[in-house]
Formats: sequence, structure tokens, C-alpha cells
Amino acid sequence: MKDHHEPTDPTDAGPADSGRRAFMGVAAGITAAVVAPGVVLHSVTAAPRSEAVTSDVRWGLLIDTAKCVDGCSACVDACDRENGLNLQNKPASASQEHWDDQKAVWIRKVQLQDNQTGRVTNLPLMCQHCEHPPCVDVCPTGASFKRADGIVMVDRHTCIGCRYCMMACPYKARSFIHKAVEDQLTRVPRGKGCVESCNLCVHRRDFGEDSTACVDACREAGHEAIVFGDLKDPESSIRKHLAEMASRQIREDLSLNTGVRYSGI
Ligand code: SF4
Ligand code: SF4
Repeated sequence: MKDHHEPTDPTDAGPADSGRRAFMGVAAGITAAVVAPGVVLHSVTAAPRSEAVTSDVRWGLLIDTAKCVDGCSACVDACDRENGLNLQNKPASASQEHWDDQKAVWIRKVQLQDNQTGRVTNLPLMCQHCEHPPCVDVCPTGASFKRADGIVMVDRHTCIGCRYCMMACPYKARSFIHKAVEDQLTRVPRGKGCVESCNLCVHRRDFGEDSTACVDACREAGHEAIVFGDLKDPESSIRKHLAEMASRQIREDLSLNTGVRYSGI
């Protein structure tokens, strides 16, 4: 499978590439100096957003279900606020039940019950950021794509709303937007007729922040059930946790090599 948005070789930044990076750096901050009357030199302050995404990292989450508390929805609520999902309004004509089925959800709290023992486990379930994502395989337009850093997301400009990806996803991780989105955040553009799902707070990644909204909220609620980090970095917190505790993928049998791992299940 081929990644869309292939990484560029960081050692191969020719003049054209420099120009492109400078253009992209506008959002990251520009300083300007006047060197002669009418001549202004712009220099771009280095920022993560001005650099190409590379496969040197693979972002993932580790969720310790033993720490995930029954009845707590801190991660879900934080995800809603971070990505503007809390701005969704129930149409007057829709029943609450219909709306609960239709509204966009990026994290769900799921309960697993062991049929042998009756033991119930709570876990937050979001896009698992599969290394081999079925949602990407089935997308007819290429809108569903995996970045070089492992984040799986949807290009809203090319999504035609066919929902093949929703049918292919084994985790029911994707939502379809049925109605015009009136209130939304500029950092997370969303729109009618598109599919969307957890993108590991990609806007934070691209501004160099090292956390996600769900991780922050869980920590602030005192549970610390979710760890975010680079699965390729042996020194990262997530890798150290993975080395110390047993963990597994949900539906390991599908061999999707998910970027989200769970312990305690
Ligand atoms: S969990 Fe679903 S939406 Fe996410 S990458 Fe895997 S198949 Fe795609
Ligand atoms: S709904 Fe959009 S992202 Fe999903 S398969 Fe169709 S075009 Fe691709």
C-alpha cells in the first residue's frame, strides 16, 4: 500500500522545496527586514508545520483499560470540544434516538463483557490508525488516506460521501455528516456530505504539540488512562509503557497493525 502525501527527503531541500516550505510557513510566523528602499526580505521562523511529514515517526495511543473509569466521559467531551463536535445541533424534526445514531462521534466509550467471567471492561474506541487501513483500500477517490506519520484521515475536498470507508472500517470509527455544518472551528474544517473520524488531533501535531485532547482531559480528570506518542521512538513514553505492560490490538486477527493499543483486555 502506498502512502499519500509521501514524505520528502529532508536532506533534499532544493530551491523549489525551500520556496514551498517558505510558503507553508506563512501560518507559522514570518519576520521581515527592509534592506533597501522598497526591498523587503522575509525570513520564515522554523515551525513543525513548515516541515514535511515523515515516516520517521508513527503516532499512536496506548489505553490502559484498568484506569478507564466507568461513567467518565472526559476524553469524549474533550474530543468534542477540540474538534467542534459539541457545536452540532439536533434538527428539530429528528428524534433524540435518531440524532444519537446520526451525530458525528470520534470517540465512543465501549463496554466489553467476558462471556466466561462476566467481567466488564470500559474502553474508549476511536479510529485505530491502522497501518493497513481498509478504509483507504476501498476509497474510490483517494480521499481516505494515511499520512507518512501513520495518521489516517479524510481529505474533505475529494470525499464524495459514498461511505464505502464506513462499511470497511471494522471499528465503526467513522461518521458521515448529513447536515450543513453551521458552527465550526477554523482549525478543524468539517462539512456536509463528508466522512470524518479521529485524526489524533492532527492540527496539534502540525503545530508541534506533543499531546491530544483526550490524553490531556484524562490526565486532568486524574486517571491517566491514555498515553500518546511515537511508536517508533524507543525513548518515548508510549514505547516504555508498551515494553512494561502486556497490550493488544482490538481485532488482532485482522492484521491491520493498529496504532492504538489497549492493555487490560
Ligand atoms: S480504524 Fe477504521 S477508519 Fe481508522 S484507519 Fe482503521 S479502518 Fe480506517
Ligand atoms: S465516503 Fe469519502 S473517504 Fe469514504 S470511501 Fe467514499 S470518498 Fe472515500
